[in-house]
Amino acid sequence: MSMRSGLARALALALLFPATALLTAHAEQAGEVNIYSYRQPYLIDPLLAEFAAETGIKANVIYAEKGLIERIEAEGRNSPADVLLTVDIGNLSQAAAAGIAQPIDSEAIEAAIPPSYRGESNEWIGLTRRARVVYASKDRVSQDAITYEELADPKWRNKICVRSGQHVYNVALIASMIAHHGEEWTEQWLRGVKANLARKPAGNDRLQVKGVYAGECDIALGNTYYMGAMLTDEKNPEQKEWANSVRILFPNTEDRGTHVNVSGAVLAKHAPHKENAVKLIEFLASDRGQQIYAEVNNEYPVKDGVPWSALVQSWGAFKPDPISLNEIAASRKKASELVDEVGFDDGPSS
Ligand code: FE
Repeated sequence: MSMRSGLARALALALLFPATALLTAHAEQAGEVNIYSYRQPYLIDPLLAEFAAETGIKANVIYAEKGLIERIEAEGRNSPADVLLTVDIGNLSQAAAAGIAQPIDSEAIEAAIPPSYRGESNEWIGLTRRARVVYASKDRVSQDAITYEELADPKWRNKICVRSGQHVYNVALIASMIAHHGEEWTEQWLRGVKANLARKPAGNDRLQVKGVYAGECDIALGNTYYMGAMLTDEKNPEQKEWANSVRILFPNTEDRGTHVNVSGAVLAKHAPHKENAVKLIEFLASDRGQQIYAEVNNEYPVKDGVPWSALVQSWGAFKPDPISLNEIAASRKKASELVDEVGFDDGPSS
């Protein structure tokens, strides 16, 4: 890169990200760790406060909704980022594929996190699990068990609400169908689900539950922790009614188990505070870190033996599909292509 384009790039970055000045890359400065986080402050701040109390290490965080992986890429060797925190195997594997991650060498992490929930060379580490479940109308759905396969059954015609097929959560679910049934089978299945949609896919997971509440559909697909979020969101009290109109059905409990995704962490390739960064990820994978995740956001711990929140326990048993997230990651591209090929996001009538 020429000096000129390097300067232009730096200038463009500074304009795009004025917060850069808050983080510095002093490798010699012990006692700090720099985090780029897609996960929100209400969840991450309590974890970092506890980490600081235990270790004396101060965390500096840049929170953003997008662009963090691209930013670390653009910053290159001079990136102040030590750790990236994000949701979804899609983002975690994208970070690894972009070359911004480095393998983590830690016995504590390997002991805490099963291999199916971390990258093959520990280039990403899963820290929480979320199941992608069916939110079923209490009034209009009487069955107590369901499968993902069944969502293509004509009995659900005009009854399913779901967000965009291209959203990372759905791409991972469809990728898991490819991993279990193959591409051809999954394409037919996806056409069947599309035909059963009540409306064009749009909005987030909570708005699909609202669709059930409003009578537009009988079942919605969504991640488990949104049940907790809807019940406790003080800014949006109407969501409590949406939540109370549905119950959670865990798909495929009678065979392979329910599709699970993760949130997790990546150790940045050029982390200036590598040792502290590993300590942070070890803390997040520890009993205490896992418990805070479980309590604050109603996610399932990845580490065995850590108690679930009371609300999560009230949903009953949970049998996770044991397939490795690495296998799901390998089918993501094909899953995304299928979503376009069948015109999933055009909705039921085309
Ligand atoms: Fe989410």
